[in-house]
Amino acid sequence: MIMDSRQKILEELYRSVCACRACDLHTWRQQCVLPEGDLHAHVMMIAQAPGREENQSGRMFTGPSGKIFDRLLEGAGVKRQDLYLTNLIKCMLPKARRPSRSQWDACTPWLEQEIKILQPRIVVPLGFQALKFILIREKLPRPPKKEYRYLFGKYLPGKDFMIYPLRHPTALLFDPGKEEIMSRNYAELKKIVYPAQQPRERDH
Ligand code: SF4
Repeated sequence: MIMDSRQKILEELYRSVCACRACDLHTWRQQCVLPEGDLHAHVMMIAQAPGREENQSGRMFTGPSGKIFDRLLEGAGVKRQDLYLTNLIKCMLPKARRPSRSQWDACTPWLEQEIKILQPRIVVPLGFQALKFILIREKLPRPPKKEYRYLFGKYLPGKDFMIYPLRHPTALLFDPGKEEIMSRNYAELKKIVYPAQQPRERDH
């Protein structure tokens, strides 16, 4: 199999991530959960962190939220392998707690490196923590936490890429009433991931 230079650089990065002990979360790591999908995708999707099932399987979105994620993608007509999927925090956060300041500071440089290598045109942060990271990175104003929900499903112009924030699939585990709005917001992904398939303005 021929490896291109991006793949080589990323594989080196992934090896370092899997050996990382820069914060206390490494003690929970059973399997290293690596990013997956197309290393040349123009869309990067950022989840929060591996859950219990992901920590056991070593694959992203394999637990209950993974089933929801797959359903939302299927509804949108988007294939996982056409995105680059990664996590903000690379090791499991026990009881899905939010990352502490020191865990955040230790881990987010990995994601920063991925962004620099992949140079995505569109970034899709899933949920509050990933969106917070992107807003800080792109030097965009951050609303109070309870107002982040108004940003989901809206396009935000960043300095390096367009941002399209979505609720994390886990949100549906806690509030099935969000099914309609989330399905609608995820449906937009088809236009983002497959822009060449969209009808042109003058075709209408
Ligand atoms: Fe390293 Fe991030 Fe895992 Fe902490 S969470 S040990 S910084 S890879």
